[in-house]
Amino acid sequence: MVLTEFKPVEELLIKLKDEKKIFILGCGGCTEGANTGGKAVLASTKEKLENEGKIVTGVMEIDFLCQKALIRARIKPVLDEIKNAESILVFSCGIGVQSTSAVLVKVCHPALNTITFGGITGTWQGTERCDTCGDCILDYTGGICPYTACPKKLENGACAGQSNGKCETDPERDCGWELIYKSLKKMNKLDILNKFIPPRDYSKILPSPALGKTRLWALDEEEII
Ligand code: SF4
Ligand code: SF4
Repeated sequence: MVLTEFKPVEELLIKLKDEKKIFILGCGGCTEGANTGGKAVLASTKEKLENEGKIVTGVMEIDFLCQKALIRARIKPVLDEIKNAESILVFSCGIGVQSTSAVLVKVCHPALNTITFGGITGTWQGTERCDTCGDCILDYTGGICPYTACPKKLENGACAGQSNGKCETDPERDCGWELIYKSLKKMNKLDILNKFIPPRDYSKILPSPALGKTRLWALDEEEII
C-alpha cells in the first residue's frame, strides 16, 4: 500500500491563492487505507475551501487514480465541472496525480505527499513513476515528476546536455524537462516555469513522527505470534 500524508492546509492555500474555482478529485484506493482520502476527507476539504471564498465546481472519488483507463472511463459525467475549474486538487499518491494530469491536461495540485510504496501497490502502473520524495511538486512541473523523469533529478530546468529533446544519459530517452515544458505548454501554463523550486529536502522522505506511531505503520513491523 502507498502511504501518503496531508500537505499542510496553509501550503495548499498558498498554491491555490490565485485560483477561484477548484475541482476536488480523490483516489479511493491506498488513500482510504492511509486515512488521507475518502468521502469524508473530500467533503471537509470542500467546506474548508468554500470557507476561504473558493468555488468548488465538483467533487469526485475514483477507485484508483493510478489507472488512466479508469479515470477516462469514470470522469465523463463531471467533465463540465472540471472544465469550469481553474485547477484540480488531487488526493492521491504522486502516481495518481501524474495520471490525472496526463488525462485531463489541467494543473493538478497534489493535496498529499507520498512517503513510501510500502512494498507492492497491488495496482497497475502505467508509465508514471514516483520517487516518494515526501513533498510533491507536480503542480509546478505539469504533472511530470522531475525526480523520476530526469536521471539527475533536476528541479529547475534541463541541464546543458539535453540534445534535440533527448537526455544526455541515453539518446533513446526523452529529456524529462522537455516533457515538463511540453506538458505546461499544453496546459497554457508556461508561466509556472518562472517559479523557483527549492532543493529537495531529503529529510521529508521519512514518515513524520506522528505517522511512524500509527497503527498502519506499526502493522508493517509488528510480530503477531
Ligand atoms: S514530486 Fe515526484 S517523487 Fe515527489 S511525491 Fe510527487 S511524484 Fe512522487
Ligand atoms: S538531458 Fe534532461 S533528463 Fe537528461 S539529465 Fe539533462 S535535464 Fe535531466
